[in-house]
Amino acid sequence: MPAEQNGVGQSLLTSLETFAWSVRETPLRYLGDPVLREKCTKVAADEFKTSSIKHLAIELVKVLMDYRQNVGVGRGLAANQIGATKQMIAVLLGDEPEVFCNPRLIASKGMGSYGESCLSSGVMLLGEVRRPWTGKFEYENLDGVTKTLDADELKTRVILHEIDHLNGISCSDKYEPKTMRIVTGGKAEVFGERFKKLD
Ligand SMILES: [Zn+2]
Repeated sequence: MPAEQNGVGQSLLTSLETFAWSVRETPLRYLGDPVLREKCTKVAADEFKTSSIKHLAIELVKVLMDYRQNVGVGRGLAANQIGATKQMIAVLLGDEPEVFCNPRLIASKGMGSYGESCLSSGVMLLGEVRRPWTGKFEYENLDGVTKTLDADELKTRVILHEIDHLNGISCSDKYEPKTMRIVTGGKAEVFGERFKKLD
């Protein structure tokens, strides 16, 4: 049966086309690139408000929004995913992207499991990852002002995924055994994942 008639082949082709598009049109780095294993350095006090930090924030947001617009998914991006080893992440959950510098978890409640995927997987992989249910974070904004944030379960999940990137860890390192699969249903499959509360 030709691939396009059996559904699965068609979907895999879509996933591969997504990968081809992102290689062609974005500066994203993919699993196997050493930069994804680096520990990113803090944005230092004297770097805030500099043009290089502002440009990094603009680029991070641009790549994330481009990806979301063209592929339909993508809720967070860490600086080393575009080759910059600075502790900066972008998060896109509502209409407005947010940028956090030096994000750190300072308290958490509970534990949950959720199917995660990553822009750096190329062909989109998805697998169950256990993380704290909700978290309280500290970070600096682009002016260097320290802020705190009480995040709901989705935002906690996205920020923790991105903090892992800043420490050289990909979600696929944390997939629960035998839960990893290739996304074949696109946006509906990725956004259709449900949180499972573990405690
Ligand atoms: Zn990721």
